[in-house]
Amino acid sequence: MPEAKILEGRSLARQIAEKLKAEIAGLAVSPKLAIIQVGDRPESSLYIEKKKEFGEKIGAEVEHIKFPEDINQDCFENEVKKISDRPDFCGVIVQLPLPPGLNFGKVIDKVDFRKDVDGLSAINVKKLWNNEPDGLIPATAKAVLSLLDFYKIPLSGKRITIVGRSALVGKPTAVCLLNRGATVTIAHSQTENLSELTRQAEILVVAIGQPNFIGKDFVSPGQIVVDIGINSSQGDKLQEEISGKKTTGDVDFEAVREVVGAITPVPGGIGPLTVASLFENLLLARSLQYKSLIK
Ligand code: NDP
Repeated sequence: MPEAKILEGRSLARQIAEKLKAEIAGLAVSPKLAIIQVGDRPESSLYIEKKKEFGEKIGAEVEHIKFPEDINQDCFENEVKKISDRPDFCGVIVQLPLPPGLNFGKVIDKVDFRKDVDGLSAINVKKLWNNEPDGLIPATAKAVLSLLDFYKIPLSGKRITIVGRSALVGKPTAVCLLNRGATVTIAHSQTENLSELTRQAEILVVAIGQPNFIGKDFVSPGQIVVDIGINSSQGDKLQEEISGKKTTGDVDFEAVREVVGAITPVPGGIGPLTVASLFENLLLARSLQYKSLIK
């Protein structure tokens, strides 16, 4: 049986970085991103560092703004609004997760939707549902589309099963694929006969946060498998993500690659593309703000 094709994302992420760098080099002022963090969770700080590194590589500015863990909802909403109102910022991210006492939905709606590069504000969610072209789409969902497009995998009319229904990953990815004409099934922890559903799909997308959960029994020959999961293999997720060496996906890569037609690796699949997609959103956000000024 022929080996599965490996759908790697690193070289596409590099291509996107080059394109963004050239675009930014042609601007009078480089775009600036605010990343707002509450508290000091090391994992969040690490993700922020990765975004800063990518920003530096392409010539975008990234400012990391920190608030204390005990900030209250009203005060935090006011601060976020002030940051969003600053004309020097083209994009604003509120780094997740927030401490338990803070309501993310209310906070993110204080960000101008044209600066909401994570695509999580109510207006951007609505635009995604309505398939409006001027919305900002969550970076992971965008990364999935970019990868499938890069490998010229048709989506229209295809049976796609997505395992995972989070607001950050599963749902927006499902809606993006639906908007592209796919026939989408969304599965989750309460889904019965999960392996039956996953085997029936032509494209299987997995985002559950369960290391190596999807094994041989969940897939079928010829399938395309996209693994969004990032899990630690030895418990020290932080160090592993820095080195990018020991993370595993939600799919048992070695077992599944023997069955399917194509599969994304972890690391090196959707992960690097997600950061690149975020900065694509920053440039898109900049142009949305520019358009609203000249209206
Ligand atoms: P969440 O924990 O928010 O959501 C997990 C989803 O998976 C839920 O909908 C849950 O179902 C479902 N689920 C959990 N266990 C099972 C199971 N055994 N069978 C079926 N469904 C299950 O996680 P996220 O969506 O935030 O992240 C998912 C994964 O993607 C993680 O590994 C995360 O690290 C990774 N990730 C990767 C990114 C990237 O750039 N590559 C970016 C963001 C996340 P229910 O709703 O019923 O509880």
